[in-house]
Amino acid sequence: MKHTLRILVRMDLDPSSAVLEVEGCVTVEGCPSVTSVLARTLLLAECEEVLIDLRRAKHIEPAAADYLQRIDPRSIVEGGVPVPTRVGVLRPRVLPDCPLEAEQAGASR
Ligand SMILES: [Zn+2]
Repeated sequence: MKHTLRILVRMDLDPSSAVLEVEGCVTVEGCPSVTSVLARTLLLAECEEVLIDLRRAKHIEPAAADYLQRIDPRSIVEGGVPVPTRVGVLRPRVLPDCPLEAEQAGASR
């Protein structure tokens, strides 16, 4: 079983903001990928605000959501970010469990 992660970056240049739409499985293992896309987005767009949108993810590990919420944009871009940027996380109120795990549990019965 493999958790898969997809990240789509949407940018509005005026006003400068970006959204990272994250789909699939948001796991602790996948967090470095989200962080690296976020770092590149911060450098590219010089955004005032970047939102990490987890609302379409099928699976969110609570530890992963907490990790993403605590990201400090200044610490993930070498030499610092060009402009001060707010990073926010949009998450569903209830974090979904992995559909793959549910499928597997069903199949083994
Ligand atoms: Zn999963």
